[in-house]
Amino acid sequence: MTRSQRLSDQQVSKKILLLGAPGSGKGTQGARLAHHLCVEHLAVGDLLRAEITSGSELGETIRSKVESGELVSDDLVLELISTRAAQMGEQGYILDGFPRSVVQAERGREVAELADAVPDVVIYLDVPEDVVVERLLARAAIEGRADDNEETVRNRMRVFRESTAPLLAHYEKQGKVRVVDAVGSPDEVTMEILHIVGMSDGK
Ligand code: ADP
Repeated sequence: MTRSQRLSDQQVSKKILLLGAPGSGKGTQGARLAHHLCVEHLAVGDLLRAEITSGSELGETIRSKVESGELVSDDLVLELISTRAAQMGEQGYILDGFPRSVVQAERGREVAELADAVPDVVIYLDVPEDVVVERLLARAAIEGRADDNEETVRNRMRVFRESTAPLLAHYEKQGKVRVVDAVGSPDEVTMEILHIVGMSDGK
């Protein structure tokens, strides 16, 4: 087999966590990777926004958290993930937005082990804070997401630094972290990740 051929399916990681600050490109890369790897892209933020849009009472509780940039409750997010764990274990997944804290990772671990859904690799999308803030504020003008205003963006960055960034050390201890410079173009970042997960085009 030449280097330009894809590795056999067995060597391709298909249980992938995407970790990174708000605006680091998890959503964009998640969708692209899911397409290339033929697995589902699960974005917790999208699931939460769908619940808000449904107009349910639960959606209203979620809305206040999301619009202020705080995390919604661990119990709620754990439930969202748990109901999908079996399928994730069987078919693989690109997961973006869970876990967002070491507590969520620890609580999710047992569920993941039981469902054979433990991640193979944790991809950290590395982008400096001033770049992500600029991206999010630019996106606000295009997509109109309620949490992309300056005050909420600052709060999301603080929550990321305080609660989510410690996950890097948590997964580094397990030897699972691969850091990707995510300042480049979306195509470059996708290529780099595909290379890491073993689905390279010979780069
Ligand atoms: P971003 O990563 O750019 O902040 P997301 O769409 O992933 O965008 O998340 C938007 C919001 O959804 C978060 O600011 C938070 O309020 C909520 N959220 C997403 N994932 C989680 C989670 N695992 N635990 C708690 N809240 C979450």
